[in-house]
Parts: sequence; structure tokens; C-alpha cells
Amino acid sequence: MSNFVDILLEISLNYAVKEMVLVSACLLGLKCCYNGCDNTNDDVVDMRELFTLIPVCPEQLAGFSTPRFPAFFTQGDGSDTITGKDNIINEQGTNVSEQFRCGAREVLKLCNLLNIHSAILKEKSPSCGTKQIYVKEKLTKGSGVTATLLKLNGIRVMSENELKEIR
Ligand code: SF4
Repeated sequence: MSNFVDILLEISLNYAVKEMVLVSACLLGLKCCYNGCDNTNDDVVDMRELFTLIPVCPEQLAGFSTPRFPAFFTQGDGSDTITGKDNIINEQGTNVSEQFRCGAREVLKLCNLLNIHSAILKEKSPSCGTKQIYVKEKLTKGSGVTATLLKLNGIRVMSENELKEIR
């Protein structure tokens, strides 16, 4: 993981183009969070100097509106959702697992379309969390649905926190 930036830089230099990196749109300042806010992260925004950043919000791609009810895992994590378990509900108690799977598939489609191999995703989100998610309001080890699907398809994934650690 510590070589993440070096690997991307090498690719960019070799091909004289900026490598494309998928980014959770809220980290770049887009107001796509469930509450209509953003999660602007300056370390992530600064990466635009080195890479072509592609902002994406899996939950908006899934068809959710903004603002929307917050959602969380009832058990397990994104790896369970991907295998078909219905384990995500929103604040109203509605099962929204299929929408989360749909959003993840759309993001993967975009990565394949644009030949994107790396992603910086927002930690703790039920879609984007890479190592931490909420299970019944408790912060727990695990990964979100989109982060899981990208990892399963060979895409390098890191959170904004990991980026800060290596910079
Ligand atoms: Fe940000 Fe991901 Fe949540 Fe969209 S789904 S608001 S990109 S953390």
C-alpha cells in the first residue's frame, strides 16, 4: 500500500499522461452525502496535480436521491451484500441492499470502461468504506459494497485516511 502513489506516478511518467483514479465524489467536495453535505478532503483534492481524478457517488448511481435516509449494515459487510445477502437497511427500516449492489455494479462498469485500476474511497460509508463500516450504529471492521466489488475485480482501493498516512 505504501507504494500506491509511486506505482501510479511511474505509470503516468511512462505514458506521459495522468493515470485516472476513481474517487468518492464527496471527498472532492461534491454534495452527494445522504444529508446533502460533502466530505471535502484537501489531501485527496491535491491529488489532482498528479492524477486525473474521476468523481463518482455509488449511491447516486444507484438511483438514491440527495438528501436521502442514511443506511447501515444489519450484519456482516459488503462482501455479504455482494453474495446476495440483504443486510443493509435505511433509517426507515427499508431494505436497500439491492440498490447498493446496483450502485457498486455501475461503478465497476465505469472502471472497466475507462480502464481505471485505482480508487480512493471514503472510509466508514456502507458503499465506499474500505476497512471500516457501521453495523447497527457500531463502527466495525469491514468494507462497503462498492469497495468490496472493486477489490474483488482487482482494483487497488485505499481510503482518504491511508492516503494521509503515506503523504
Ligand atoms: Fe461519498 Fe460514497 Fe457516500 Fe457517495 S456513497 S456520498 S461517494 S461516501
